[in-house]
Parts: sequence; structure tokens; C-alpha cells
Amino acid sequence: MNLDLARNALKKYFGYDHFRPMQAEIIQAIYDKKNCLVLMPTGGGKSICFQIPAVTLEGACVVVSPLISLMKDQVEGLRVNGIRASFLNSSLSSEEQQQVENDFFSGEIDLLYVSPEKLVSQGFIPLLKRVKLNLFAIDEAHCISAWGHDFRPEYTKMKFLKKEFPDVPIVALTATADKLTRRDIINQLHFQQPEIFVASFDRPNLSLEVRPGQRRLEQIKKFVGQRPDQPGIIYCLSRKSTENLAAKLNDAGFNAACYHAGLRDTERSEVQEGFIKDNVNIICATIAFGMGIDKSNVRWVIHYNLPKNIEGYYQEIGRSGRDGARAETLLFYSFGDVSLLRDILTGNNSENQEIQLAKLERMRQYAESLACRRRVLLNYFGEDLNKNCGNCDICKNPPQYFDGTMLAQKAFSAVYRLREQVGVGLLIDVLRGSGKREIFEKKYHEIKTYGQGRDLPFVDWRHYIAQMTNLGYLEIAHDQKNVLKLTPASHRVLFKNEKVQLFKMATLKERQQTEKAKAKPVTHRQRSRNELFEELRQLRKKLAQQKGVPPYIIFSDASLEEMAVNQPMNDVAMRKISGVGERKLQLYGDFFMEAIREYVKFNTNSFSSDILDITYEFYREKLSIAEIARERNLTESIISKHLSALMLRGKDIDIFRFISEPEAKQVWKAIRYLDKPYKVKSIYELLKGSISYDKIHLALTYHELTGVK
Ligand code: ADP
Ligand code: ZN
Repeated sequence: MNLDLARNALKKYFGYDHFRPMQAEIIQAIYDKKNCLVLMPTGGGKSICFQIPAVTLEGACVVVSPLISLMKDQVEGLRVNGIRASFLNSSLSSEEQQQVENDFFSGEIDLLYVSPEKLVSQGFIPLLKRVKLNLFAIDEAHCISAWGHDFRPEYTKMKFLKKEFPDVPIVALTATADKLTRRDIINQLHFQQPEIFVASFDRPNLSLEVRPGQRRLEQIKKFVGQRPDQPGIIYCLSRKSTENLAAKLNDAGFNAACYHAGLRDTERSEVQEGFIKDNVNIICATIAFGMGIDKSNVRWVIHYNLPKNIEGYYQEIGRSGRDGARAETLLFYSFGDVSLLRDILTGNNSENQEIQLAKLERMRQYAESLACRRRVLLNYFGEDLNKNCGNCDICKNPPQYFDGTMLAQKAFSAVYRLREQVGVGLLIDVLRGSGKREIFEKKYHEIKTYGQGRDLPFVDWRHYIAQMTNLGYLEIAHDQKNVLKLTPASHRVLFKNEKVQLFKMATLKERQQTEKAKAKPVTHRQRSRNELFEELRQLRKKLAQQKGVPPYIIFSDASLEEMAVNQPMNDVAMRKISGVGERKLQLYGDFFMEAIREYVKFNTNSFSSDILDITYEFYREKLSIAEIARERNLTESIISKHLSALMLRGKDIDIFRFISEPEAKQVWKAIRYLDKPYKVKSIYELLKGSISYDKIHLALTYHELTGVK
């Protein structure tokens, strides 16, 4: 089997021009009938790896997935791409199941999604034996392992596949699998000499940011306020806080809902449905939310609290930007969260408590990192990104170091004089000379360093003390109400004059100011792009509502963005948009091209219909451009623009009355060397002035409308 067929199918069904890294290799391995284990991050593009073989090989592919709630949308997503897909699970009535089985048997289905229960159920194997199969795909394959966090007992019964169907290759796919789980998958599925594919876990389209967790609500309101209509998720630690936050955001006029395991089933699916269909913008959720959703246009994820470990964090932020378009992630970090999580973990006495505490520690280190955050993340997953990413807060605002010896000496000497008996809060109060009763009662105001740190605000002190702790100068005695202790390093600073390097924490305000200064002003073109994107998004929503499907199934945000930039107005141009396959072009192409034409008509040309009508009358009287210009007392250039605008409005204008065919061909040839959006001036220069601006204008509009070259 040859990969050209795979590439053609990728374009025809999915509208994509290239495979992502590893997809082609995996498909080739499946063509070679190898058993494969595929590890790819969420949004990495696992599905294509079995969907392409399914549609290019003879026979059908059976996909096993535990996510029953997703199957309907997954199948719908394939059908709008012109792929014959169906699903079988307990949500169907027995008549419906019968129907699907009949279709499957008569070879009318290329991809059949089944739940693990269905696969292992009585009577299903004989059915499978009667059909020619080309592949088994085991999605969420980590569910097979008791080590994993989503263990499904039915998954372990799939051993029989290799025995019953020795000639049918199996591909097992997952986004989370440590070495142990990997081995388990291979053993349990009885893979002999499997091909193992580990894709990069990098998701460069996700920006990474960590902010101190002060005044979170205000920060969140500002954040979502600046991103109207962008769907996003806010993860909170407790059920209660999801409810509170959603209520507060709604009070502030945002469109938010909460989601947690304590809600009734109906409430949960309602919230989920609302989000998937772009009717609810913001979901405040516990980590219970996300596993069952496939929404590709989540544009941001906020962590209101620190997650317990990096695996969870990465999976949660990974739910944004699955379409490959830009998405933003923001983590609020406070030391209070770390203490709280630590208490929870130590409290529940589980057997792998130590591992969990160590994982929390890694999470904390990530949040406090002064190095590129993506490098820290990928490092955690055993990958080395040998350059800074440029898309995290550290890369955008590198920390500024300064000599912090004085500050450190004040703090350490206070700790020393307070006999290592106070926690962070009280230490800062003493340093800042607070008048709290506790301080006077304990006579802390009599120590020498009392009030010596008055010049710094409380939050700054907290930040610097956190740094000193991370650098190993201070220790927090968790077993003694979190009081601060000195270490050998701080002794060296106090008594041996060792120097301390700290980095300056830009305040939120300063950070925003630098970012504002760096941000380029929005150009006219960008603004109009955004407007058009918004119109296309509205259109997508309308069509989705009519069909009762989630909007992202019609086109992804990434496709809409590309349409807004390239403004395709004919089939040829439309096919070039990533994500526009043959079937979608057929189903939706006209709607979107029409919207683009409308937009272009009213925005790039602000001629009123009255003005154009007159020019059109002269045109019909067969006047030349020069003659019309004379009649109307306008320039020839304006008249040619009128004619273009008339074409865009659907009037039948024969440009070959004004430009010869060879000339037009020269213009169309010239644009092959230029980037969109084409400028008349560049074409003029490329043709060394041999064809006039007016003619170029007409030939260009003709090209845009018909796609001729
Ligand atoms: P996963 O199952 O790994 O989470 P998906 O298979 O759902 O990821 O793919 C994520 C998104 O990436 C989907 O919108 C999919 O259409 C898109 N995608 C997959 N492969 C490609 C490709 N080769 N080119 C462009 N987009 C792709
Ligand atoms: Zn970075």
C-alpha cells in the first residue's frame, strides 16, 4: 500500500495538505500489518492514524473507545467529511444496533466505533468474523492498565483479538502512558514485536503563563473580558469554588456555568452540551470536566488553583487549542495552594503518598521556574527542547536579577531573632513594622529588625521569601505549623557575608505594561480579518444549530481563521484552506464563500449601489473604461474598481472587453510568485509596468471569483 493514497485521502476527506510528524510513519506501519503502540499528546492527531488506513484499505476498521458520550460526535465529524462511519454502544436501542450491524455486515461502513462492553459481548465476535477487517484501533489504550488512572476492566478482556484475528493489525493509542503502562498495553494485547511511536508532547500553539494568585477574580474578569466569545475552561480545586466563581462571573455579565461530579447527570450533560455548541462560553469546573469532550475550539484554560501534578496540568491545558490555532493557558500560583494540597495528600494516607508529594513538588517547581516553562514541562516528560520557546511568560519577560543580599540579611536576621518560631505572614509583619496585637503581645516589636523592611509592600516580601525558600536559604517546617527555619546557606549569608542573587518580580501592572508596549497596534487589515472571522463564526454557529451538531464539526477555528485571511471566493481557493475536504466543500463551501463575498463587497469597496448602477448602465451600453470615465467625470482607475465591485456583487461583467486574454494570463501567472493578499502594485512592478493598473485590477478580481490561473 502506498503513502500517496494516504496523502490523497488526507486531502480529499480532511482537507489537510500534510501529515503531522509521525502520522505518515504510523500509517505506513499499519499498511505493513504491524501492531503499533502510539503515544501522542491530546490534540496531536491520533485519530487520523487509524482513520486514513480505514478509508484507504479494503475492509473495515473497528475502533474501541471507552468514551461513549463522544462517539456520536466523532461519527458525525467523520460523516461530514464524507466517511462512512457508525457506532455501537448501549446508548442505542436494540433495533438501532441491529440496523448498524446489518450495514456493517453488508460492507457499508468503513469505520465502526464500539464500546469495550460491546466488543467483548456475546455474539459480536461471530459478526466480526463475517466481515473483512483491515484494522483494530484501541483508543485511550491506557485504560487497559491497572496502573493507569482510568482503568477499565473490560479492556483487559481484549487479549482475544490477536488470537481470533491474527492477520488484522492492531493500533493502540493513548495520550498518557508512562513506561509501566506502555509495557502493560503491549503485554495485554499480546503484541509481538510491536512498533512503538512516541510523538513529541510539545504543543507549541499553547501559550504558557503563571501568575501570582492574588486578586484572582479580578484578574479572571479582566482576562475573559478581553476575550469576548472565546470559549474557555477554568479549573478549580473544589466543587464549591466552581459554583461561586461561575455565579460571580455571571453577576459580572459573563456567560458561565459550573461543572462538577456532584451535579445530577442531566445537569452535567446540559452544561457540557451548552459548551460544545458554543452557547455557554466559560466553564468553571473541577477536573471531572474534560475527559468526555472533544471540542477543538477551546481557546483558553485557566487554573484557578495549582494542579496536583504536571501530568494533570498538561492534560488539562491540552484541552485548549486542539485545532492547532493559538490558545492561551494561565495558572494562578500561591503558596497557600501548595500547603493545602500537601495537607490533602498527607491526610489521605494513600500508599503512594510519597510519589504524590514528590509530584506536587515538581508542580511547584514548574510554577516557580525562572527558565522557559515549556522546557521544564517537556523535560518532565523526558523530552529536550533545546531552545527557549518564546511562547511562555518567562520567555516574554525574562527575569531581572539583582543583588538581594540586603533583603536576605534583613529576613534571615529577623528569623534568627524570632527564634525560628514564626511563619511567613508574621515574619513579614515584623519586617514591615506592623502594629498587630500579636506582635506586641509577644514583644516582637523589640527585636532589631522590626520595621526595617517597611519600604517593600507585603506581596513583594512574600514573593522574595518564596524565592529564598526555593533557593534553599529558608526551610518551611511543615510539621511545626509552617514556621520558617534557617539553613546552612542562610547561616553563610548572615555570618560569612555570602551574597544572594534574587530576581526582580515584575508586578502584574509592569508586566502588562511591557506587554502592551510590545504589542503592535492592530492594523486595519487585522481588524477587518477579525471582523470577517467573527462573521464566519456566526455563520458556522447558525449552520450547526440547523443541523444539530457542534460548530467545530463544521469547520475548525483554524480553518475559519485561514478563510478570514485568504478570503477564498471560488472552489479552487476554498480547497486550499486547511480542513476543507471535498465533502465539506460540497456541503458548506457555498455558504462560506457567499459570506466572504458579502463581506468583501461591503468592506473593501464602499461604493453604494446607486453609484455602481450608473456605471453598470454605461457598461451595458458597451462603452470603454475611458469613455465611462469621461461620461461620469471620474478617473479610469475608479471605473475599473466599480467594475470589480460589480463582479463581486454577482453582476455578469465580461472583463475581456477591457483586457486581452494573453494579458490576463500574464497577470494570473505573476500572482504565482506573490503572497496573498495580492497587491495590484506588486503585480504591476513584477510585470515591469507592461499592463495598466486598471487591467490588473479586473484580472485579479476575476481570478478571485473563479480561481482561474
Ligand atoms: P487526538 O485524538 O490526538 O487528541 P485528534 O485526532 O482529535 O487528536 O486531532 C486533533 C486536531 O488536529 C483535529 O482537529 C484534527 O482534525 C487535526 N489534525 C490531525 N491531523 C492533522 C494534519 N495532518 N493536519 C492538520 N490538522 C490535523
Ligand atoms: Zn518559553
